[in-house]
Amino acid sequence: MTSIQRFPFNPFQVNTYILWDETKECAIIDPGCYSADEQEILTGFIAENGLKPVRLLNTHCHIDHIAGMAFVSHYYSLQPEAHPAGLAFIRHSEKAGFVYGFDNLETIDPQLPLKEGDIIRFGKTELHVIETPGHADGSVCFICHTDKFVITGDVLFHQSIGRSDLPTGDYDVLIKNIRDKLLTLPPDYKVYSGHGPETTIGYEAYSNPFL
Ligand SMILES: [Zn+2]
Repeated sequence: MTSIQRFPFNPFQVNTYILWDETKECAIIDPGCYSADEQEILTGFIAENGLKPVRLLNTHCHIDHIAGMAFVSHYYSLQPEAHPAGLAFIRHSEKAGFVYGFDNLETIDPQLPLKEGDIIRFGKTELHVIETPGHADGSVCFICHTDKFVITGDVLFHQSIGRSDLPTGDYDVLIKNIRDKLLTLPPDYKVYSGHGPETTIGYEAYSNPFL
């Protein structure tokens, strides 16, 4: 059984997730811990619970989602994993980070590529990777069929959807991906988004005003 802990980090309140199971191996998704305080919250939680980080995953590489990627990668000696199309956003973050309030942003390039059909394993947990561009090129979601949840990044939110007005965003592609790849999941699947509270596929299919 996978346990999930959510930490809203940095000025964008991005949801960083820690996923683990009874083996204590864990995955860190969208490391947004930017300040020293936030980095301590993350590492403190992992230490207190005796967890062993073995995967460092990104749903996409917008600046709020990568703000702690270099820190976590170095601290736990993990190779960051993201879709290769995310690299352009990391280059942009290096140049323009200060515009978004990240004056001392340290970046690292993803070292392991994620793509449609990949299966991420840690402990006894399996996450299936699907590609869901439309908010940003290189957006992926992670689906756990055993425990019935999906990590959606900035693609699908509680009562909202991701922005499509940023570079590489495309409204029609975003809607099509949500309809074809997320709303086709069983309605009881929980949705853990890149920002805001958790929801379910069924609730969003029924009541999300954008869908
Ligand atoms: Zn984003």
